[in-house]
Amino acid sequence: MAKPLLGHLDPEFLEILNGVQRALRQLFSTQNRFTLPLSATGSAGMEACLVNLLEADDRVVIGVNGVFGGRMADVAARAGAKVTRVEAEWGLPLDEEAMVAAIRSEMPKVVAFVHAETSTGVCQDPQAIASAAREAGALVVLDCVTSLAGIPVELDRWGIDAAYSGSQKCLSCSPGLSPVSFSERALHAVATRSTPVQSWYLDVGLLDGYYGGERVYHHTAPISAIYGLAEGLALVSEEGMEKRAGRHREAAAHLIESLAPLGFSPLVPPEHRLPMLTTLRLPESVAKQGEANVRRNLLQRHGIEVGSGLGTLAGQVWRVGLMGENARPESVDALRKALESELSSDH
Ligand SMILES: *Cc1c(COP(=O)(O)O)cnc(C)c1O
Repeated sequence: MAKPLLGHLDPEFLEILNGVQRALRQLFSTQNRFTLPLSATGSAGMEACLVNLLEADDRVVIGVNGVFGGRMADVAARAGAKVTRVEAEWGLPLDEEAMVAAIRSEMPKVVAFVHAETSTGVCQDPQAIASAAREAGALVVLDCVTSLAGIPVELDRWGIDAAYSGSQKCLSCSPGLSPVSFSERALHAVATRSTPVQSWYLDVGLLDGYYGGERVYHHTAPISAIYGLAEGLALVSEEGMEKRAGRHREAAAHLIESLAPLGFSPLVPPEHRLPMLTTLRLPESVAKQGEANVRRNLLQRHGIEVGSGLGTLAGQVWRVGLMGENARPESVDALRKALESELSSDH
């Protein structure tokens, strides 16, 4: 990222951008021509998917079992869509039957949900919901911010029409880019809207002028960030996605095993657990010191940041991220040692 800047229309830079787009298609397991790193964070990817596909009064069914499903519902409502929220308990996956029932009764234009819910550590199997949505003629939007490059993502096999991710989760790059991908069906839905896309910056028709190959100026691509993403994607491809997913699984298993003797236990049932984000119930020893104090000491004395519980889980759990470069036994061992020292009787 410290390499000299190039112009956003410089052939040398466009070569790097082409490589990034190719690598993203591979990582998303898609043939989608429209696959690119949006110049903004994961939330902008979410916004891009929803504001391009939805017009005022369109119906959308959204699964909500954590912060990010809730954010999708908020974005869709602000776009003027009629939102049906299908709620599930935080820490559990969406109820597939409830999603399918809502899809069949609403017959929405769009069905949206989160693959890896970072606020709870729950993994959602997309297949049943996506196929019910497709049967009902709906477009399927999938949040892959935390899943991409940590567990397999297969947009084409699952029948996903629009997906978005973020550069700073399992890709281990700096924050600021959102890989997105739109199917031809999704692009057709955008092209046949009756009103212009409300966001000029995120309009996929306009973005396609630059990223689609004609390389017409739309906005200035963030050159250094794209250098970084190119390198992050090269590391993923060097390691291989299968091995990388295995490394994430092993790190999570090591975490759960290592912290069990200290009294931490996972919130999410094993079959629905994400490897890159583990939500742990707190032992009495942590509660006694105040969980926020322990987290502050981990950061100040040991340089380790652990996430707090969110929403209804605040104060009850910690969220331990082992994403990308960080998904290694050394990270887990450092956390275990730090906790042993913080929770020992001399504190
Ligand atoms: C982090 C995250 C987002 C938001 O991404 P930002 O880069 O923070 O805007 C959206 N969805 C999920 C599941 C996330 O983990």
